[in-house]
Formats: sequence, structure tokens, C-alpha cells
Amino acid sequence: MEGFKTIFEPFKIKMVEPIDVTTREQREHFLKEAYYNPFLLHSDKVMIDFLTDSGTSAMSSNQWAGMMNGDESYAGARSWIKMRDAIKNLTGHEHVLPTHQGRAAERILYGYLGGKGKTFISNTHFDTTRANIEFSGAEAIDIVIEEGKRPDVFHPFKGNMDVKKLEQLIQEKGAENIGGVILTVTNNSGGGQPVSMANAKAVAEICKKHKVYFFLDCCRVAENAYFIKHREEGYQNKTYKQIAQEMFALTDGAIMSAKKDALVNMGGFLSLKNKELANACKNLLIITEGFATYGGLSGRDMEAIAIGLEEVFDEDYLHYRIRSTAFLGERLKNMGVPVMWPIGGHAVYIDAKALYPTIPVNQYPGQALVCELYRLGGIRCVEIGSVMFGKYDESGKLIPSPMELVRLAIPRRVYTQSHIEFVIEVFEKVLQNKHNARGLKIVEEPQFLRHFTCKFQEL
Ligand SMILES: *Cc1c(COP(=O)(O)O)cnc(C)c1O
Repeated sequence: MEGFKTIFEPFKIKMVEPIDVTTREQREHFLKEAYYNPFLLHSDKVMIDFLTDSGTSAMSSNQWAGMMNGDESYAGARSWIKMRDAIKNLTGHEHVLPTHQGRAAERILYGYLGGKGKTFISNTHFDTTRANIEFSGAEAIDIVIEEGKRPDVFHPFKGNMDVKKLEQLIQEKGAENIGGVILTVTNNSGGGQPVSMANAKAVAEICKKHKVYFFLDCCRVAENAYFIKHREEGYQNKTYKQIAQEMFALTDGAIMSAKKDALVNMGGFLSLKNKELANACKNLLIITEGFATYGGLSGRDMEAIAIGLEEVFDEDYLHYRIRSTAFLGERLKNMGVPVMWPIGGHAVYIDAKALYPTIPVNQYPGQALVCELYRLGGIRCVEIGSVMFGKYDESGKLIPSPMELVRLAIPRRVYTQSHIEFVIEVFEKVLQNKHNARGLKIVEEPQFLRHFTCKFQEL
């Protein structure tokens, strides 16, 4: 929609899912019942759910129609052929393994290539990626460029890998000990920031020189292609799909959680060039996921993935997707809300330490904002700070996370411009109420991944 300021949603609504509108008083009560932890809230008490963009997409009428055509045969299903061909066409990789989600593909590939003494190198390993690598006994090292670690510094490709460090690390560890180099596009844990084609090419060249595997964690490869087309010289006249294909062509394999850019609620895959590696992974797939032509997916799921992988590269869809995320972020920034800059593809990150300078980190300013957003507007989101990553020293004192962020992850094709306008209005109230915000203390927590289940009390 050239020449218009309004973000035009390139779809109309055929089926609606009602949202229960609640009062502030009710939400105060629900929040208390959930011990101030939104992971413990029932979703029907949430008005705008920004907890994650994973598996929360709205499927199209074409995808739903495809599901009715799903072929549920155990072996060689028509839907499998369709999914496999869509992935081969996109990635250029000869061997495709279906999995029930991204982490299943990670467990198979990194479990096989990992083990004690091995090292994996990434711009930033996503948390399930790191967990699967470390569980195998291997180590995972993040080497995103310096700009990628600074929330307020502009760089067009803040997800880029530091290629100098990559070269150093490979020499230091010995190429034979590198399990693989993983480029995450966009860089999820680094704020959904994109990676440039030039960077992917430089990484590929180093990997090739040292004969080290190069994989793409391609969950948001279409969103990444949008940024390349609009920010990198030489890509203005290419289609988004051509850009993605060019990036895949540099790699030895890819892992995808289809719950992101394949626009479905469940699914994933592993694709590989090398036949021996693919065969080894296929054996593991059959033991734990399912036969090689469904790998834990229903035929109807595979049908929807095949269609979603086409739809996500639609020019109007991607424009709406990236612009609507940026719209929310830019409006918040203009109002004086401290946001990570520039805005990434799938989420807006708020710097809660800067927003609430009076709340000390051991009283969790991020969690305070998460609670405020729910209380004032029924918005659910997640703290990415000391609740998620904090540890204790021997004396039981909190070792805080370097940043106290709150993530507003935007589900695909789910909320309209009015919902986003509403969220902006809620933030106006957050700013007005800034001096009354209260920190929290943790009253109960599990040993691992505490953010999911820990309980809080307001101070
Ligand atoms: C979501 C995600 C994964 C894991 O996928 P699941 O489907 O949640 O298992 C891996 N890497 C990245 C970058 C992701 O965003």
C-alpha cells in the first residue's frame, strides 16, 4: 500500500475468537491469584497476549482448507511430499526431516554432533539450542557483534556475528572440535535483530575454509529477508524468497521451528545437504519422533506448514508484519518509554531498569512492569531479566542479569491496529503511574527455569 501511512492488514476476518473484557478490579484479583506471575494466569483472563509469537499465529483460510486435505497415511503421505518439496525448494537442501517442533530437531542434530569436548558457536544461541548443546556435554559460545549488546545503539544488522572472533575461536579450539556454527535469523534472544547477507557470507567462507558445519536457525528467515531487502545494498530488486534462498545456499543445513515463520501452531524440521549426516539423524528421528515421513506431525500439520511457508513470503504480509511491530515500538519510544533500538522483527523490548530507576534490581523492575501492564490493560508479556536469568552467590545474594527487559512478542496475523492503539494507551497510564510502581520479592521458586513457576509478593 504505497502512499498511505495506515498499516493495511492484508487479510479480513472470517472467524472470530472472543476476548473477555475485564475490569481493573478483576485483574487485580486474578494477578494476586497467579502470585504476580503471568505464566500462572489462565489465558481467558488475558485481553492482549504478548507472551510469545511462537505457535500463536492465526492460520489462513487456505491453511485450514489444506488441513481438511491432510493425508494421514503412516508412510509416504501426500502431505509429507508437499511439505518436503516446499522445504527443498526454499532451502535447496536435499534431505528433509520433519519434527514436532524446533527443539526436537536441535536435540537430534546437536545431540549427534555434540558431546564432551565439542564447541558450538552462534551469534546468540536460543535457550533451547543452548540447552540441547549443553545437555550433550558440549559448550555453546555466543559471539554477536558489540553493537548487538547495547540496547540504545543503532545498527542496521544488530544480529550479525563477530567474524573476527569466529576465526579466533575456531583456531583456538581446533576446527575438528567445532560441532557447528549456528547463525540465528533473526537473532531471537538478541532482540529479534536481523543478520545481513554480507555477514552470512563471511561466516560461510570461514566455515568452508576450516571445514566446519554451518547451520541456519531459520525460525524467522522471512522476517530477516525483509530487513535485508530494505537495509542492505543490492537486494532491493530481489523477492523476499530469493533472499532467503540465497542465504540457505550458503549453509550445510537448517533447523526451523515452524511455530514462527511457517505460520502454524505446531511443527518443525531439520534440513541437510550431507547424506551421511542426514542418515544418522534419520535413525535418531525414527527412534524418538516418528517415521521419516511424518516425524511426530499429523498429515494435516504438514499440509499447513507447506502452505504457511509460501504465505509468509508474501510482500504485503511481510510489510504489515514488520511495520506493525515497528509502529508499536516507535510510538512507545516517542512517548518516552525506553525501548531497545532499532525495533526487531517479532517483538518490542522495554528497558525496565531505565523506566523504573527507583526499583532496585533485586526487586525485579521488569516483573513490576509485567504486573503493571496486566493490571492496567490485561496485557500479558514476559520479563527477560533477573527473574529469568538471575542467580545467587554463596551468601544467597542475587547476581542480577546484565539487563532488565520486558518483551512484548507480537503473534502473527492475530491483533489489529486498534488492539495496538489500545496497548499504546495502556503505556500512557504506565507512565502516569510510574512513581507508584512497586517492586516484588520471590516467595517460592523451583531450582531450574524459575520464571515459569515462581511465586511473588508485592513490596
Ligand atoms: C522457538 C525457537 C527455537 C525452538 O523451537 P520450538 O519449536 O519452541 O521447540 C529454536 N530457535 C529459535 C531461534 C527459536 O525462536
